[in-house]
Amino acid sequence: MLTVEKAQDQHYVLVLWGPGAAWYPQLQRKKGVILSKAQISELAFPQKIALNAHSSLKSIFSSLPNIVYTGCAKCGLELEIDENRICKQCFSCLPFTVKKIYYRPALMTVVDGRHDVCIHVESKLIEKILLNISADCLNRAIVPSSEITYGMVVADLFHSLLAVSAEPCVLKIQSLFVSDENSYPLQQDFSLLDFYLDIVKQGADALL
Ligand SMILES: [Zn+2]
Repeated sequence: MLTVEKAQDQHYVLVLWGPGAAWYPQLQRKKGVILSKAQISELAFPQKIALNAHSSLKSIFSSLPNIVYTGCAKCGLELEIDENRICKQCFSCLPFTVKKIYYRPALMTVVDGRHDVCIHVESKLIEKILLNISADCLNRAIVPSSEITYGMVVADLFHSLLAVSAEPCVLKIQSLFVSDENSYPLQQDFSLLDFYLDIVKQGADALL
């Protein structure tokens, strides 16, 4: 099953087959945008860090240092940290040497009750999911006199997002596929293009 929509200069292609085809009735298209209402069941980061409904707030909080990395503020390249904890420079961007902390990209598993689909989520969208709290300020207090840090807020946001009772969110996704000469799909890749937490306010507008 294949749905293609072209609007202005933008192309969004969604290919559904196998278990993914069961999603078709739930997908709505308008102006080239494909939106899917879904429940996020897991966020898997590199180094086998998987956050899901079973993850405690404490364990999520303690994984935060492992789901961020220090990168070049210009191109995002991860920069190695040597044994003296000195961060190397990005040679392609020299003389620009500013560094930034980024969330690592993740693989998001979403479910519609019976089927699971895995979606690639880039660093910038992880930040959007976390209400645009930058990975640079996780150790910072939310107000000067407070003991509550942005890291605690972020852990709490992950925890609520993955809770069994979490409100469904709206995901804008793109599917890329590679087929062989017989149009047999060899590879299927879903990527997150945008994320809306508040379905009533933003999702509904987007669906109009
Ligand atoms: Zn760079």
